[in-house]
Amino acid sequence: MAKRYDIRRVKMHRCYEVSEAADVLGITTQTVRKWIKDGLFVLTAKRPKLIPGEALRKYAQDLTSPKRLLPPGQFQCLRCKTARMPLGMMADYLPTDAHRGRLVALCGVCEATCSRFAKASDLPELSQILEIVTKHVNRA
Ligand SMILES: [Zn+2]
Repeated sequence: MAKRYDIRRVKMHRCYEVSEAADVLGITTQTVRKWIKDGLFVLTAKRPKLIPGEALRKYAQDLTSPKRLLPPGQFQCLRCKTARMPLGMMADYLPTDAHRGRLVALCGVCEATCSRFAKASDLPELSQILEIVTKHVNRA
């Protein structure tokens, strides 16, 4: 089910309502809601919910890349174009909310920055493989 989305149509610097996000990617609003449930970042402070274009684009891109099939602890390095173990087996966890966030690490081969989505509930398991440091970032 490797569907490709035309992510170039998503503008990085605007926000999308659920229906607009569905339109721009040619998918149903149901799919967009499922993505939100699965971890697509959404601004919930205001109604209607707004999805930053950058987050939408990344999410759609991640869905079409082999990143989803990565074994635990591995990262898809964009420079090596393959799955790599992180440098020093270390990763930073940047929470986006209480339940999920991003793991950021350096590629063990070329040292490029790699990241992948992670659920907070996956961290105990990942911690058996990687040394994970949780970083709290201010989201302006
Ligand atoms: Zn690399």
